[in-house]
Amino acid sequence: MSEGSKHGNRCLQTNARRYLVDALDERDVSDQQRVLLTLPLRELSFEIPIRRDDGSLAVFEGFRVQHDDRRGPCKGGLRFHPELDLAHCRGLAQLMTWKTALVDLPFGGAKGGVRCDPKQLSMRERERVMKAYVERCSPILGSDTDIPAPDIGTGEREMAWFADEYSNGRRREPGCVTGKPLTLGGSRGRVSATGRGVAIVTSLAFAETNRSLAGTTIAVQGAGNVGEHAAREFVARGAKVVALSDSGGGLYDERGLDLDNALERLRGDGGAAVGDAITNTELLALDVDVLVPAAIECVIDDENVETVRAEWIVEAANLPITYTADCRLAEAGVKVIPDILANAGGVTVSYFEWMQNHQRDRWTAEKVDRRLHRTLESAVQTLCERRARSEKAGLRGAAYSIAVERVLDAFCLRGID
Ligand code: NAD
Repeated sequence: MSEGSKHGNRCLQTNARRYLVDALDERDVSDQQRVLLTLPLRELSFEIPIRRDDGSLAVFEGFRVQHDDRRGPCKGGLRFHPELDLAHCRGLAQLMTWKTALVDLPFGGAKGGVRCDPKQLSMRERERVMKAYVERCSPILGSDTDIPAPDIGTGEREMAWFADEYSNGRRREPGCVTGKPLTLGGSRGRVSATGRGVAIVTSLAFAETNRSLAGTTIAVQGAGNVGEHAAREFVARGAKVVALSDSGGGLYDERGLDLDNALERLRGDGGAAVGDAITNTELLALDVDVLVPAAIECVIDDENVETVRAEWIVEAANLPITYTADCRLAEAGVKVIPDILANAGGVTVSYFEWMQNHQRDRWTAEKVDRRLHRTLESAVQTLCERRARSEKAGLRGAAYSIAVERVLDAFCLRGID
């Protein structure tokens, strides 16, 4: 089991629910509405049998959970991970509902994937897994129903296989999945959007407290899609990324890492010597201004929360802090930018991709960038205004309050009140 992953599956769904319960306790919500906001709209779990390259049979488990579609089609990532299960997908699907509502995108929330280790599969085997997933799940997917996107263990290539299988025998529907390669109807700026969004949101939140990112020291846990692009954008904005890690451990240099070299070394592709080796446990305890967990869930929990020395934590990953650890961080005065805002840049540009697909249009990188910035800026402003109105709620409380309110509004307008 990889370092830090021991808590993931057990606590994720519970933590997601406890954040929601806090938001519901703050308002007048009927018991029926509580149930509707908590339970998934629909969920599917199924077998994925594939023929391995050596001719043997392998069977994996696949999942798709649609949490809510009252504000628009369900939207959420598709993950290939050896510890994925249905409970995990439930927690993450719910999170997507609050994220799309907070950023005010016309989507609901979903999550899914396959319980498999993509590192143990060849490229052709991964293609078979992805295509079998689509074949099993297609009755509940579609560009106006449920639109997956990349997540841990998947990327552009998997989304291309998804689009190909989905259009097999059907009318071509490029908006059935986002995060596709450009050639197949992807959007400019989608690959880097989540990570860039992390840095943009941090910079906007800093500006609210009259601070700038220039000279700020940052430690990033996770050097995948989100971690890499967040680190690059932080550096482009004048911050110093002093630590970066992947599941095998990390690198530290108090003067700021050379990112290209650090990424090469972490990926085992050589690269010049850079920084000192540190463990993920040490990275989380570094004395930095900003800690950015950008890998997996529940990495900051009751066991290690006391070791955190950062002034800010930016949740680039989904649910990286357990509920009880979050309460203790709040008591200690650590400022947390919650996942449903911090990593919303990805689903925002997924929305732009979906719009371009529907309009058969191609936006320039500048247009994507402008609209991404505008969307995140508006979300941060709304959040800070809500936060200022309530003494009690931290940024997470204010974020959930806005998101739940928007979903409840949709309930009431549809006559479910
Ligand atoms: P990825 O698979 O590209 O990268 C994950 C990184 O985390 C890898 O570097 C891996 O080595 C590292 N990692 C895994 N386990 C670790 C551990 N125990 N300790 C330290 N590092 C570990 O995944 P990603 O797409 O970058 O996603 C990262 C997080 O961001 C996930 O929580 C995901 O749900 C969330 N997220 C991703 C997107 C997106 O667009 N990709 C959007 C929103 C949220």
